[in-house]
Amino acid sequence: MKRYLVTGGAGYVGSHLVLALLDRGDQVTVIDNLRQGHRAAVPAAARFIEADIADAAALDAALAGGPWDAVFHFAALSLVGESMKLPFRYFTENAGYAFRLIEACLRHGVRKFVLSSTANLFGNPERIPIDEAERIEPGSPYGESKYMIERALAWADQVSGLRSACLRYFNAAGADPAGRAGEDHRPETHLIPLVIDAALGRRPEIAVFGNDYPTPDGTCIRDYIHVADLATAHLLALDALETRSVTYNLGNGQGHSVMEVIRAVEAVSGRRVPVRIAPRRPGDPARLVASSEKLRRETGWSPQYPDLHTIVRHALDWRDSHPDGYAD
Ligand code: UDP
Repeated sequence: MKRYLVTGGAGYVGSHLVLALLDRGDQVTVIDNLRQGHRAAVPAAARFIEADIADAAALDAALAGGPWDAVFHFAALSLVGESMKLPFRYFTENAGYAFRLIEACLRHGVRKFVLSSTANLFGNPERIPIDEAERIEPGSPYGESKYMIERALAWADQVSGLRSACLRYFNAAGADPAGRAGEDHRPETHLIPLVIDAALGRRPEIAVFGNDYPTPDGTCIRDYIHVADLATAHLLALDALETRSVTYNLGNGQGHSVMEVIRAVEAVSGRRVPVRIAPRRPGDPARLVASSEKLRRETGWSPQYPDLHTIVRHALDWRDSHPDGYAD
């Protein structure tokens, strides 16, 4: 049986990866400070340590509980807008604490490391779909902080042989198809849960941030990838670490506009969504769509839930059955 340590395993993507590991019989320990994560998002079958990765002693104690077959690192601040206001908070808490985590992993003999990275590495992409050869020019201090970690991991491999997988997520969406986990951010800033709340009457409307972009309907296009497909990609990337470190762009490969998402929520819920056109949100590129060809070719990954309606259905089912989210 394999043993894994998951930082941020009480958060949205982390909790779905924990389910995927448990489902195949692995042992999982989650370390999370519960600032954004939820205790109720950690399944009973996982061990839970409530601690901040900034707490060097707690981190050391957690790592000493190994040996670990790999460490998955999800714990992070992840708001692009906030990072524009507080760049050094992101450099210190995302990059700086990750450096310490990586160093501690090396001290404790960890050989494999999987990082949640981001499409925000590509602030202003030249080619769509975006593959791994695209020029890296982070769109925000948040993206920059993740790139700093990617670079540190490249050096940890070169100097100490720590193998790493850097997975650059596009727009994670949906919920566990079996309804065991879902998305509960506070405050919620992501499009799909906000549109769902507007459909369910929990919000008066959805504000569409700009309808004058150079896209067919004028609204921004993003690549929404089912969170369960993201989790599966982590398992395959982990296998790839048997031979080498890897970096993958991770999306569905299909773009959907904000208006298409709204129409999909209306179709799936059978309700009308009140829409208000609002000004553009600073920093939003018109179009972000991933090429995950490299991941498909090298690991055999393909999304099981590529259809936007299915993604919305799973998200809606979870939000509908959890009106107060994780209620903690
Ligand atoms: N968006 C919107 N209204 C909202 C939230 C988001 O129009 O209330 C748009 C946003 O401008 C972007 C897309 O929806 O084009 C996805 O935004 P989200 O924050 O979910 O993810 P991001 O692409 O920023 O990571």
